[in-house]
Amino acid sequence: MITIKSQREIELMKEAGRIVAHTLKILEEAIRPGISTYDLDKIAEQAIREQGAVPSFKGYRGFPGTICASVNNVVIHGIPDKKTILKNGDIISIDIGACYKGYHGDSARTFPVGEVSETRKRLLKVTKEALFAGLAFAKPANRLSDISHAIEKYVLENGYSVVKEFTGHGIGQKLHEDPPIPNFGNPGFGPLLKAGMTLAIEPMVNAGASETVVLDDDWTTVTRDGSDSAHFEHTIVITDTGYNILTKEGE
Ligand code: MG
Ligand code: MG
Repeated sequence: MITIKSQREIELMKEAGRIVAHTLKILEEAIRPGISTYDLDKIAEQAIREQGAVPSFKGYRGFPGTICASVNNVVIHGIPDKKTILKNGDIISIDIGACYKGYHGDSARTFPVGEVSETRKRLLKVTKEALFAGLAFAKPANRLSDISHAIEKYVLENGYSVVKEFTGHGIGQKLHEDPPIPNFGNPGFGPLLKAGMTLAIEPMVNAGASETVVLDDDWTTVTRDGSDSAHFEHTIVITDTGYNILTKEGE
């Protein structure tokens, strides 16, 4: 069941989203060659708690971290680790959730570490643009798969592939609510979008083939062909005329 949030609930989700966005900004400033993903995780947890929220991911189905820290060919769900030290030229996808007064915000971004290649810069740029290509269809009377289709189309046109084993999702009092939101498919299917729906849209884009593999830790998800992967996500609310991004700072 897809829940429609009240104005009060949307305000709480906006605060959760603001906390997530501010934490990502703090991490952006901390990301540099030589720092471990474990250190980034500690910075994120402290920042979320100092803002009066609780990390959404820590303990979720046993996940040990506050952030998912996914470097280069890791698509999603990388576990923060003292042995994973960032190097100049890496890319790192950081996914964060924060829960404020019972409501979640969820956002992800892929950051460059130091000086990265033009090839990697382009992957980051296209993945972010794919998110916004999908969001352009986030408005009442469109159907959910209009978003999915726009994301896949944009990614394929740019010569990359979308991950199909993982999806975006509804979000609210639970981190993952209905509906699942694939990053591929034909337009014109799925539920009609309605004002008050809160959705996490999150393209995961591979430089090579689409297939992924989950490693033995049951979390870390890598590209099967070893190619790079990027991930951008925002939590949004559908409004009367379009959408608002909740995982941002300011208005
Ligand atoms: Mg996320
Ligand atoms: Mg998500």
